[in-house]
Amino acid sequence: TQPLDVAAVREDFPILHQSVQGKPLAYLDNAATSQKPRQVIEAVDHYYRMDNANIHRGVHTLAERATQAYEAARERMTRFINAASEEEVIFLRGTTEAINLVAQSWARPRLEPGDEILITELDHHSNIVPWQLVCEQTGAKIRAVSVKENGELDLDSFEEAIARRPRLFAVGHVSNALGTINPIKHLVERAHAHGVPVLVDGAQATPHMAVDVQALGCDFYAFSGHKMFGPTGIGVLWARRELLTEMPPWQGGGEMIKMVRLDRSIWNDLPHKFEAGTPNIAGAIGLAAAADYIESLGIDAIGAWENELLRYATVALEAIPGVRIIGTSEKKSSVISFVVDNVHPHDLGTILDSDGVAIRAGHHCAMPLMEKLDLVATARASMAFYNTQEEIDALAGAIRKAQEVLG
Ligand code: PMP
Repeated sequence: TQPLDVAAVREDFPILHQSVQGKPLAYLDNAATSQKPRQVIEAVDHYYRMDNANIHRGVHTLAERATQAYEAARERMTRFINAASEEEVIFLRGTTEAINLVAQSWARPRLEPGDEILITELDHHSNIVPWQLVCEQTGAKIRAVSVKENGELDLDSFEEAIARRPRLFAVGHVSNALGTINPIKHLVERAHAHGVPVLVDGAQATPHMAVDVQALGCDFYAFSGHKMFGPTGIGVLWARRELLTEMPPWQGGGEMIKMVRLDRSIWNDLPHKFEAGTPNIAGAIGLAAAADYIESLGIDAIGAWENELLRYATVALEAIPGVRIIGTSEKKSSVISFVVDNVHPHDLGTILDSDGVAIRAGHHCAMPLMEKLDLVATARASMAFYNTQEEIDALAGAIRKAQEVLG
């Protein structure tokens, strides 16, 4: 593959070319949300300037165009994850909404007191709390696969837990807190060997690697547009058609019905059954543009450059006395979580901001993981393909400065 021309790619991202606190912005908070290329901004802009109308019901030209663009976006996302059919691709607000939908529509009717839902200690709150809610409603229980000191899942702990035949295994593809890439294909194979369906939280995977839901073999896959250079407020739930067919709608309203009488209704076909109300039409169109953009750069070229950035940043941070990297798996996306002796991550984040360096400090919506690793918080630099080695240098320089000021 053609290596990435990072300077050229950066030209596509208007937001990157600004100063923050008088310094060039180094945006290293991509795991929280990514920036948007002009191709995405223009797709949304074009939609609102030219095509905006409500979809599926209209008989006029704009409604036709809006419907066509929205369904074309669904077709685009179907190809992006290699789903078998557009019927399996549901547009929702994002990963969080997708997981809640599965918890309420798939799991809730199936769970009985004493049943187990298996999650992991590595998971994001949005792949923990929806399961807590449904367990509270049904009397089911949560069990979690342990995480090891290096940030990888403990596969012995997984084998033990999966052999108990939980009703579902819900697992993150890539950890937002540490960057660990979980061996999804293996986990799915093992879970299926015990008859356990698998939901994958792909929020941190789609920006960095090719995702092929059929190759992964999982049963549900959730991701968010805003993490993959698309708009906020749009994301996808993919699920195998047989599962979606069996599931009752989660929300009721327009769009999701075929026929309504005052006392009962007939649900619409897939995927519309799960898209009650007017959806985020512009968001879906922007997300499709983001998928086009990623594919135009090439996911392999993106991955190669991000690996290079990860290697460079790891060396740079390891060279600073008093800095400890948390999460040292060999299989990591471009995320570095770290702590600095005698410096609280929040203070570090504030000082870094005064040097134009944007990182995140905190529990990264993974409080159980922090507790397990005996940490209150970490600082986290998370890189995207538009980041540069100069920005990593700025990060390292700002950390040294923070140590002088605060240490
Ligand atoms: N899972 C993971 C691993 C995440 O990183 C995030 C976002 N931080 C989410 C789920 C939730 O995504 P969203 O807020 O877009 O619904």
